[in-house]
Amino acid sequence: MKRGTAKSKDAHALRSRAKKRFRGQSSPRPRFRSPTDARALMHEVQVHQIELEMQNEELLKAQAVAREAVDNYTELFDFAPVPYFVLDADGVVCDLNLAGAKLLGLDRGRISGQRFERYVRPDDRRAYATFCYKLRADETQTPCELTLLKADVGFCHVLVDGTAVEKGGSAGGRGWRLAMIDITERRAAETRRNLSAALLEMFANKSSSQEYLAGVVDVIRKWSGCQAVGIRVTGPQGELPYAACAGFEPDFLAVENRFSLGRDDCCCMRTVKQDFAAPERTLVTPGGSFRCDDAIAFAGRRPSGTQMRFGGNCVKFGFSSIAAIPLRWREAIIGVVHLADRRPGQFPPERVAFLESLMPLVGEAVQRLQTDAKLAEYRDHLEELVRQRTRELEATNAQLREEIGCREVAEEMLVRKAEELKRSNLELEQFAYVASHDLQEPLRAVGGFVRLLERRFPDKLDAKAREYIEGAADGANRMEELITGLLALSRVGREGRQRAPTDLSVALELALRNLQFTIQAAQAEVTSDPLPTLPVDEGQMAQLFQNLLANALKFRNQTPPRIHVGARAEEGRWVLWVRDNGIGIEPQYCERIFQVFQRLHTRKKYPGTGIGLAICKKIVERHGGTIWVESEPGQGSKFCFSLPDASARPRPES
Ligand code: ADP
Repeated sequence: MKRGTAKSKDAHALRSRAKKRFRGQSSPRPRFRSPTDARALMHEVQVHQIELEMQNEELLKAQAVAREAVDNYTELFDFAPVPYFVLDADGVVCDLNLAGAKLLGLDRGRISGQRFERYVRPDDRRAYATFCYKLRADETQTPCELTLLKADVGFCHVLVDGTAVEKGGSAGGRGWRLAMIDITERRAAETRRNLSAALLEMFANKSSSQEYLAGVVDVIRKWSGCQAVGIRVTGPQGELPYAACAGFEPDFLAVENRFSLGRDDCCCMRTVKQDFAAPERTLVTPGGSFRCDDAIAFAGRRPSGTQMRFGGNCVKFGFSSIAAIPLRWREAIIGVVHLADRRPGQFPPERVAFLESLMPLVGEAVQRLQTDAKLAEYRDHLEELVRQRTRELEATNAQLREEIGCREVAEEMLVRKAEELKRSNLELEQFAYVASHDLQEPLRAVGGFVRLLERRFPDKLDAKAREYIEGAADGANRMEELITGLLALSRVGREGRQRAPTDLSVALELALRNLQFTIQAAQAEVTSDPLPTLPVDEGQMAQLFQNLLANALKFRNQTPPRIHVGARAEEGRWVLWVRDNGIGIEPQYCERIFQVFQRLHTRKKYPGTGIGLAICKKIVERHGGTIWVESEPGQGSKFCFSLPDASARPRPES
C-alpha cells in the first residue's frame, strides 16, 4: 500500500491533535493576530470540527444504547408477570403493563386515564388511600392487601407494594408506581382451609345431621354475607325439604317444603336432577350449579306462562340473586344448597365454585351422620327386640317353671296313685285268690252233695226235684269254672315265673298240645310264622297263646277254622298276632272285651266265663306290652299283642 501524502500526513496530525485535545479538554484557545495566526486559526477550526464529529459519534452511540435500554425496559414492563401500574399525582393510571390489564380483565386503553381507586372494592378504599398517603410521606410501608373489582363480574385479591415517584402529570407533584401479586387463589385456599376446618370441627362435635347442617348454614352465611341460605336434602319419596336454613320467611318455606322431585319444578329441583331448562343453561356452572345474578329480570324476560319455573317462589319473595349448588356424596347428588339474596349479583362464579369445592365434604358428613342415625335407629330397634324377646323368654321360663312344678306335683301324685293302685291290686289279687281258693272247697262240697242226692234217692225224686238238682249242679259247675278262672287271673300277678329268653314257638307248641283235641274236633288248621326268642315267662306265654287260640276255635262260624299265628319286628318291639276266620267283633266292643266278665254272647250259644281275654291283657301288660284287636263282624278277628325287644337299643331321648 502507498504511504500517505504530505496532505494526508497533515490531516493525520490534525486528527491526533484534536483527539488529544478532545480527551484532554484543557488546552486554552489561542489568540490570532496575523495571517500566520489565521492559518493557525483555520487549523484550529479544523481540529474543532473533528472534535465535534467525534463528540457527535459518541452521542449517537449513547443514544443507541439509551434507546435499547428503553426498549428493554418497555418489553420488561409489558411482559413482566407482575401486574404493574403507574399512577400520577391524582391517582390516575398513566401506564400499566399487560399483567395489570389482565388482572382487571380490561384493555390497557380502557384503564389508562381512569382513577385506580375505582377498581378497588368500596370496603377497601380507605385502606388503599392510607397506603398511598404513607408511600408519599416516605413512611416505611408494608404491602397492603386489597380486593379489586374485575371488569366483568367478580373480584380478585391482591397484595400491593409500591413507591412514590416524581411525576410530571397534569396535576404535577408525585405519583406512584404500584406492583401487585394476585393472591386470589391463596386467599381462596386459606378460606377453603379455614371453612373446611370449621366444617370438620362441626362434624366432630355435632351429634345429628340436622344440627350439623344448621352449623353449615351458619358458616356459609357468615362467609358469604348472604341474606338467606338453606340446605335441602332429598327424602326417600323424592321430597326436598329444607333440613336447615336461615333468612327465609316461614311462608316461603311452607310452600317450598311441600315440593317433590317427581311432581314439582324449580331451579333447586332441576339442580338435584341436573336437568336444566334450555333458557337457563348459560347460568349453569361447570360444577353443575345454577346461579343467576338477577332472577327477577331473568324471569321477567320469560313468557308469562313459564315465569314460575324460573325463580318462581324466590322471585315472588323478592330474591334477585339465586344460586343452587348440588350437595354431592360420591357420584350422587343428595340435596342442594340454596342461596338467595335480594341484592343482585351476589353470587359470582368464584363464590359458587368455592362452595362447590366444599360440597363433597358436607355431603360425606351428612351421609355419615344419616348412616349413624339409621344405625342408631336399627340398634334401638334391635335392643327393643332383644328386650321384648328377653321378656317373652322370662315369661316362658316362668310358665315352664310353673308347668314343671305342676308336672312334678302331678308325677308325684301319679306315683302315689300308682303305688296305691299297685297295693290295692295286690290286695284285690290276694282277695281274689283267697276267695276263689277258699270258695272252691264249699263249692265242691255243694256239688258233691247234690250229685249224692241224685244218686242215693233216685226213686224218691220226681221230675221237678231232678230238674232243680240239675240246676244246682249246673250252677255249681259254673261257679267252679268262674272260680278257676279268677284263680288263674289272680295267679298271673302272683305266680309269674322269672323271665328268661324263651323261644315263643315252644310256648305256642305247648298251647297247641293242650288244645289238640279241640283242634281236631273242629277240623281247624293252625299255621305259624317263625316266632322270636324273647325274655318272657314261658308258662304265661303258653297260656296267652292258648286263650287266644281257644277263642279263635270257639267263636267260629260254619266253615272250619283257619288260624294263623304271625310275628313282625318293629322298632324296639315285636308284634305278634292270632288271626282267625271266625264270627268277628263289632268295632264298638273291641276294647270292652278285655275287661273281666265282659262277653258278647249268651253262654248257651258260646260257653265261657269272660275271663280269658282279661288274663291275656294282664300277661301282656306284665311283660311291658299292649294288646288290641282288629276285627269286622263276619270277617274274622286278628288279636295282636306287642312285647318289648330287649335286644333293641333304647332310643335316645329327644
Ligand atoms: P269267653 O271266651 O270265656 O267268653 P273271653 O274273655 O275269652 O271270654 O272273651 C270275651 C268275649 O270276647 C267273648 O265272649 C267273645 O264275645 C269275644 N271274643 C273273644 N275272642 C273272640 C274271637 N276270636 N272271635 C269273636 N269274638 C271273640
